[in-house]
Order: sequence, then C-alpha cells, then structure tokens
Amino acid sequence: MSQNKQLGFDTVCIHGGHQLDAKRAHLTPIYATSTYTFDSAEHGDAIFSGKTPGYAYGRFGNPTVNEAEDRIAMMEAYGIKDEQGNPLQLKAILHASGMGAITTMLLGNLKAGDKMLSHHSLYGGTQELLDKVICNLGIEIIIIDFHDIEKVKATIAGDPAIKMLYIETPANPTIQCVDLEELTKIGKAHNLIVCADNTFATPYLTQPFKYGVDFVMHSTTKYLNGHGTAVGGILIGKDIDRMKTVINKTKNLLGANSNAFEAFLLTNGLRTFSLRMERHCTNGEKVAAFLAAHPAVETVYYLGLASHPDHATAMKQMKHAGAMMSFELKGGLDAGKRFINSLQLLTHAVSLGTCDTLLSHPASTTHAGVPREKRLEFGVSDGLIRMSVGLENVEDIIADLTQALANA
Ligand SMILES: *Cc1c(COP(=O)(O)O)cnc(C)c1O
Repeated sequence: MSQNKQLGFDTVCIHGGHQLDAKRAHLTPIYATSTYTFDSAEHGDAIFSGKTPGYAYGRFGNPTVNEAEDRIAMMEAYGIKDEQGNPLQLKAILHASGMGAITTMLLGNLKAGDKMLSHHSLYGGTQELLDKVICNLGIEIIIIDFHDIEKVKATIAGDPAIKMLYIETPANPTIQCVDLEELTKIGKAHNLIVCADNTFATPYLTQPFKYGVDFVMHSTTKYLNGHGTAVGGILIGKDIDRMKTVINKTKNLLGANSNAFEAFLLTNGLRTFSLRMERHCTNGEKVAAFLAAHPAVETVYYLGLASHPDHATAMKQMKHAGAMMSFELKGGLDAGKRFINSLQLLTHAVSLGTCDTLLSHPASTTHAGVPREKRLEFGVSDGLIRMSVGLENVEDIIADLTQALANA
C-alpha cells in the first residue's frame, strides 16, 4: 500500500501494511513455516546479514507477523510529523505477549548500574517483572508518584544513573492517568529513554509519539485483537535503525517472538478496531453515568467523570475516556462477591478490551494473595469491581448490572 497518500485512520486499520500475496490470496495467509529457502549461498548470506530484505528463520520474522507489525506502526504514527516535518516513521516488533514486548524494551535498553523511574500504579505483571526479575540484574527500579511533577523533576535531576522513564497510562486499578506531555518533556530534557504502555488507551484514544516518547508497548491481547482470541504484545520505536538492530536482536535472542496464527487473529481483529472503539466509548460513557447514579455504588473511577482526580489530564491527552472503569460497592467484600456471582449476561473474567463486557473483583481474584493493607495501599479496596465495557447493546449491559446490584 502506498504510504505517500494520507489515508483515513479507519482505512489504515483495514489495509495498513498489507502486501500483495505471492499466490494472490486476498488476506495474508497464516505462513506456518519455521524456516525459509535460499536461492544460493550468496542469497543466504545476503539475507542473513540483512543486505537483502527477506526471511531467514521463524524466530526472526514471518510475513503474517510482519503485516500486523506494519499496520500497528502506521496506526501509532497516524497524522504525526517527525522533526523534519515529514510523516513519522515507526517500526514495530510483535511479541508472544505484552510482557514479552516490555521485557525486550527493558533488556534492549538498560544494563547493570542503570536506574529506571516509574509510577506506583503499574500493571501487576510489569510490577512483578521489575521486582522479581529486572532488579536482580543490577538495574535499580525507583517508584514514585508521577502526579507529582516537581518530585519527578527533582528525582531525575538528582540522579544521573536514571536512564529511563517508564509511563503507563491510564492504569489499574483506579484508572489513573498521568500527564504524558509533561513527563515526556522532563524525561527528554534529561536525555532519558521515555516509554509508554499504551494498552488501555490504544492509538484510537492516545498517541504517545505525539509527545516525543521513544517507545510504545501494547498488550495486543486487549483492544487491538479485540476478540479475546490470542495473547500478544507489540513494541514500537521511532529509532528505526535501533529497532532493526539492537532491539530486534534482543527479541530474537530472548525468543519472545509471536507466531503466524496469533498474528493472523490480530490483523483480523484490527480491521474492525475503529468501529469497535467507537462503540466501546459510547457504551463506556453511558455505563459510567448509570453507575455514578446508583445508590449501591460508593465511587466510580471513570476518566470521563469530572469527579475522577485525573479527569483534566485525561481530557487533555485522550480523545475520549474510553470503556475502562472501576467502582466500589458500599457493601464491601461480601457485596463484591454477591454482585459478581449474580451476573447473568456479563462475563466474570480478567483481561479487557474484548467484544463482551468483562468484570472482575480483584480482592477475591487477582489480588487475593496480596495482604489487605498492601492491597488497600494500591487502591484495591474490598468492594472494588473492575469493568471493561463491551459492545453489547448498552441497555442489556445496564439491565444485567441493575439486577446484580440489587443482589449485592
Ligand atoms: C495485559 C497487560 C499487559 C501484559 O500483557 P500480556 O499480553 O498479558 O502479556 C501489560 N500492560 C497492560 C497495561 C496490560 O493491561
């Protein structure tokens, strides 16, 4: 597809990165192959050394995987100009999971003696990766509150060993949203590597490259796939040479690559991404308004509500507040369990961003093993319910919530 003409974003979600198949299949097939053939010793040498574009081995690259990578790179770069005023070029590398993409980003950029600075509300898996794996490699993790911009400035200015600013926004459990523009400005002023986990917002709502970040990560398992059919992750970078060399090599050597089948499911999901996001947003807004007015609900954490502490920041950097929210029931832990057990239509499951509405009760599931004190400190109160509002008719979502709240 020509990259010269600026196509609409919806069109990019459908056609972006597609190349005519050798057998003229309409959709890029699932290239289920572990290796590729060479014409000659010279051809093999040229491909292996990167002088000629082509595929050598499944862990390094695959045409089905490549299509997903190119499409998502175009979506994240959409409408953004580089420093020369040309359309921003990005390179994306698909991974086995969001955690795989985050691991490549960290290990491809940090070494022993480096420090990284992050916010106290991160995805649980990321927090554990930092606490249980990365910190054992001589890399120090500093966690502060990114809402406190002065504290961020002082921390960075006072410690030259800090090499990276790791941002995730919005984030669990209370859907916190920190200021991408301000944080990136501070990070870049000190020459830090700035990265953002954009899983919750997606490129539909926020484009972190607009603010000058170096890397964006996604769990494609969530909104990008959108149908809950595959686990995957993507790492996107603007330093194309570095992405093609050091970063790609890190992925290859970690063995964190994706595969053709899951990449196919992802590209298929991306075709309806814009349409899905539109509906997620309108449903999310209506469900949040319903919950905010319900007598059994103590608090609703939704970025679209003026009562959310990060409402103003969210409205500055997000096109819409999206469809992720959490809410506290007045009745605490028992009410939370009764509510979840009473759901008839909506799905009780972790994960997010799928067509169907997913609800989970962290205190009895993902955070049951965390001591109560610590859990409360993270904002996971006894009655907190997290919800990813899906694409069902909103009346049906609200009807199921209404009857489950009556039982709570
Ligand atoms: C799910 C998720 C991850 C991890 O992704 P996996 O695909 O499960 O490995 C990372 N960050 C955020 C914000 C997530 O929601």
